[in-house]
Amino acid sequence: MQYSKNFTVAICGGGLCGLACAVALTRAGISVTVFEASSFAHEAGAGVGLGPNAVRALKGLGVFDAILARSGQPQPAPRLFAFVSGNDPHERIFDYETSCENPIALAIYRPAFLDALIALLDPSVIRFQKRCTSINISATGKHTLHFSDGTTHEADLIIGADGIRSVARRHVVGDYSADPLVYTNTIAYRGLIPTEDLLNAGIQTDLTDRPICFLGLGRHIICFPIKGDTVINVVVFLSQPDEPPRSMLPSPWVEAISQEQLRSSCKDWGHDPMIIVNHLTNSNKWSIHALDPPLPSYVRDKVVLVGDAAHAMLPHLGAGVGQGFEDVLVLVQLLTHPQTEKSNLGDVLAQYNDVRLPRANSVLQGSAETGRLYDSFRTSAQDKARLQKELTGRWEAVWGHDLDADVKNALDVLHRSNVF
Ligand SMILES: Cc1cc2nc3c(=O)[nH]c(=O)nc-3n(C[C@H](O)[C@H](O)[C@H](O)COP(=O)(O)OP(=O)(O)OC[C@H]3O[C@@H](n4cnc5c(N)ncnc54)[C@H](O)[C@@H]3O)c2cc1C
Repeated sequence: MQYSKNFTVAICGGGLCGLACAVALTRAGISVTVFEASSFAHEAGAGVGLGPNAVRALKGLGVFDAILARSGQPQPAPRLFAFVSGNDPHERIFDYETSCENPIALAIYRPAFLDALIALLDPSVIRFQKRCTSINISATGKHTLHFSDGTTHEADLIIGADGIRSVARRHVVGDYSADPLVYTNTIAYRGLIPTEDLLNAGIQTDLTDRPICFLGLGRHIICFPIKGDTVINVVVFLSQPDEPPRSMLPSPWVEAISQEQLRSSCKDWGHDPMIIVNHLTNSNKWSIHALDPPLPSYVRDKVVLVGDAAHAMLPHLGAGVGQGFEDVLVLVQLLTHPQTEKSNLGDVLAQYNDVRLPRANSVLQGSAETGRLYDSFRTSAQDKARLQKELTGRWEAVWGHDLDADVKNALDVLHRSNVF
């Protein structure tokens, strides 16, 4: 087969970011192989919310229409959160307003999202049940991926899209002990509840008009509809925001829990949060980890990180995968540029790093701050005013970022420094 570039690419991890990257690179005629540890049988069946910046990145990658078609939502639409007291009588604290131009967004069931991306790829591009255990540089100067089944694969460029527990990140930071992955003192219980069941149980807050955040002290609940409003995606967060982050917990980080355990963690909360908690029958408990401090580089040798591998963050801005899609868009635009070739890959990756690292790391830090804000709510008039002030404009920098300008800046540097 004739390829458009004189370099080969291996993508470690076939999650949302790895697959989106594979689709765009193969469409540009680049030789790509994706190595995915799972068979996808265990993918968590939760929903994921995409802000306007994520929608623009997916459009730029040419995959948005395929995703929209599987979302159950006829068109992307604004998703502006309403913040409601978790205590009775569920006072409305704040309705987020945006000045962002065209603030369209989408919420989608994760397995449907993955299916949409896989359908856009030639099956020969993805190898399932291939868990990468390490990366090194071979005598030929190529990078070698080593897998748990004893096999290896060589490529000129490795894209680490292997999520929060990334093996590729260990190569980039150079040493396992230098990996800044920590437990954030946050637990999340995730589940999906039929909208009708909540209505029949007498829930008072409208959960389909806007995404809702029920606020509390050391806890909050995120709710948004998916599958054409028939199902509510729920995440209950319990946190100790003032505790310093702790070193990584032993596996497993995701465990099934009993209804009684969840109910006892949420007792003394208002009418609507308790209805939600009582309906989370098949929920999993997630111990939320994140990078703290953020990475000082997303690139080492010809290994480049995207998505959670680069900037695993707390989910409180609903922006983790959106940052991953921004990474992928910038990386794809640079790699597919007519003047990018094997000999200048190092310079091109350095520009990716210069553009993406400050942007994604600032969203990572904003996500942690937002969690502290949500979980410090104390139902007083003074507190309400403080929250309104702090929440105003919080998503504007995330949603309004100009990615085209980032790519242009990176290309300008490559031209000015005679790499192109
Ligand atoms: C409770 C919660 C709610 C969230 N809600 C949102 C939201 O609403 N909006 C949002 O933008 N973000 C949200 N996020 C964050 C979002 O889930 C992540 O940012 C996103 O999944 C990252 O995508 P990724 O492709 O980088 O990694 P992943 O989705 O984790 O994919 C990584 C892939 O790599 C594979 N893999 C792992 N290790 C290896 C290996 N060694 N070898 C080969 N393959 C490997 C995995 O099997 C997986 O398929 C949430 C996160 C949590 C925890």
